[in-house]
Amino acid sequence: MRVVVIGAGVVGAAVAAGLTRRGARVTVLEAGVPGAGTTATSVAWVNANNKTPKAYFDLNHAAVWAHHQLPGDWFFPTGNLECAVTGEHRELLDARVTRLLGLGYPVERVTARRALALEPDLVPPPTGTEYVFFPGEGYVQPLRLLGRLLGEARDGGAGLECGAEVVAIESSASGVRVTVADGRAFAGDVVVTCAGRWTQHVAATAGLTVPMLDPAVSGAVTNGFLVTTSPVPARLSRVLTTAALNLRPDGGGRLLLQSLPLDGLADPATPVPEEVRAEIMALLPGVLRATDGAVVERAVVGQRAMPGDGLTVAGFADAERRVYTVATHSGVTLAPLLMAEVAGEVFGAESELLAPFRPSRFTDGPAGPAPAPARRPGQQ
Ligand SMILES: Cc1cc2nc3c(=O)[nH]c(=O)nc-3n(C[C@H](O)[C@H](O)[C@H](O)COP(=O)(O)OP(=O)(O)OC[C@H]3O[C@@H](n4cnc5c(N)ncnc54)[C@H](O)[C@@H]3O)c2cc1C
Repeated sequence: MRVVVIGAGVVGAAVAAGLTRRGARVTVLEAGVPGAGTTATSVAWVNANNKTPKAYFDLNHAAVWAHHQLPGDWFFPTGNLECAVTGEHRELLDARVTRLLGLGYPVERVTARRALALEPDLVPPPTGTEYVFFPGEGYVQPLRLLGRLLGEARDGGAGLECGAEVVAIESSASGVRVTVADGRAFAGDVVVTCAGRWTQHVAATAGLTVPMLDPAVSGAVTNGFLVTTSPVPARLSRVLTTAALNLRPDGGGRLLLQSLPLDGLADPATPVPEEVRAEIMALLPGVLRATDGAVVERAVVGQRAMPGDGLTVAGFADAERRVYTVATHSGVTLAPLLMAEVAGEVFGAESELLAPFRPSRFTDGPAGPAPAPARRPGQQ
């Protein structure tokens, strides 16, 4: 089977690798360079922690374990330590822990002593703080995961065309023809769109409707600040989540910082304001010791790939089953699972995990799972 994959972010790379594993002849068309999109601006926390409804939790839970099946030095399976100081955060965390335990998700309530053994440079929070450890979670270095997946696809014979912006998708009984901006055309039996936040636009070139939240609109649902610090001599081995600040190691002693309460100010059209950088950096010494002198090395507004109802889209978008569409938030978590499940579906094996997430829910009425509620604390 000849398959054209559109987009070389982490999702497109995973799908291309999965397809080559099944023997497909794959061509990946990328408008810019691999990792030009959202994959380069991700917390890359691998988790199913605060994901609802149940079908979306199940998908992410399976994906967390798929990361453990794809070990490599881009994946840090060191878990996530969450610290809840305020009454409101403790209440939310308690409810979540109860729900997750009921779903068989690895969760451990831990003492302050154990929390400090896990993260010795954690600033001891006040008495009464609740600590929960999620040992199955982890984080990845997203560009290295992308390199791993794309490398496998290339080793499997996939061709990669960079600077190839898709402008038209035409399908017929005999196959698909994908045209790029410089006029070249690529033929296949199936096209898989993995265009992240550009999915609505790419689907429209095939005359299909896949609504995405507009990433150009400022605000917390589609956008988020990410600050990378200069290298610091602090010990941090895992994702650390608090109400005001989430952080993880970012290579070479750097830390990646995210403050969800500030994301409402995130505007992709403007650089990260000086006062936001300062506010995020000011939170750091309250959470982690040995961070004196840290400065901002990089500050960006990340733009999420968010389907219209906040949930994953995966499936054929046309009646002829020539145009398969994948678009999702949490794409870093989901990539190793999508690798197998999407490739299987392209070859005709229906995935139970993906069945609730068909693109047809936007055009055929309310057939899919109930929409995800707006983002809550603890959700990246
Ligand atoms: C602030 C923030 C925090 C996040 N935190 C997490 C997290 O902790 N855990 C997690 O799992 N996920 C997280 N995510 C989400 C995750 O990063 C994304 O879901 C994932 O990177 C999406 O990957 P993708 O391959 O679908 O999209 P992208 O990486 O955007 O790739 C799409 C590619 O398609 C290409 N393209 C677009 N249009 C065309 C065209 N016409 N022709 C050819 N190519 C085209 C683009 O150039 C791009 O390279 C976060 C995202 C943000 C913004």
